[in-house]
Amino acid sequence: MTDYVKRKELLLELNSKISDCNLCPLSSSRTNTVPGEGSIETPVVFVGEGPGADEDASGKPFVGRAGELLTKILESVGLSRQDIFITNIVKCRPPKNRVPTAEEQRACSAYLLSQLAVIKPKVIVALGATALSYFVAQDGIQITKVRGQLFDWIGGVKVFAMFHPSYLLRNASRAPGSPKSLTWEDIQKVRKMYDQLLAGKEINI
Ligand code: URA
Repeated sequence: MTDYVKRKELLLELNSKISDCNLCPLSSSRTNTVPGEGSIETPVVFVGEGPGADEDASGKPFVGRAGELLTKILESVGLSRQDIFITNIVKCRPPKNRVPTAEEQRACSAYLLSQLAVIKPKVIVALGATALSYFVAQDGIQITKVRGQLFDWIGGVKVFAMFHPSYLLRNASRAPGSPKSLTWEDIQKVRKMYDQLLAGKEINI
């Protein structure tokens, strides 16, 4: 069995563990689990907060309005959803799209860490404050202050902070300095890192 096939199988095994999971109360209100999807050979994994209504209905990450915007953001630099892997901190929808509690995040953590251990990205793009604070435990860290920056995670892996697309939907201005215009700068950095990593180079943004 090739390494690729083995890793694909490991992820499928994880997906079925996730679909049977009842480690936290989110399992009782979900329609579908949303493990994540995309390339398992990518050097860059995007991590959001948790599924919303559309994701819960379909079992796929980022397919609602925020997801459509994420797809457009990726496409603006010539990346498709299939070039990267997209997942979330929690794999079940929190009721009314509230922020997942620390306990829920902890209960789901082994799934995310296992996915990352299989995919082995070099860069994790944290979409929004919840994902950022999962990876970067800094008191008072604010996404508005640190987006566009790289943080050290574990084993040489870096975390890159970006605004969550839902935040961009609520802040539609494209004026210089607006969240949307800053996101345009950030996704270009992601593209640059993606190309550098595929070429086997060190990250340099
Ligand atoms: N918001 C998220 O954080 N994740 C999704 O999958 C959809 C919306």
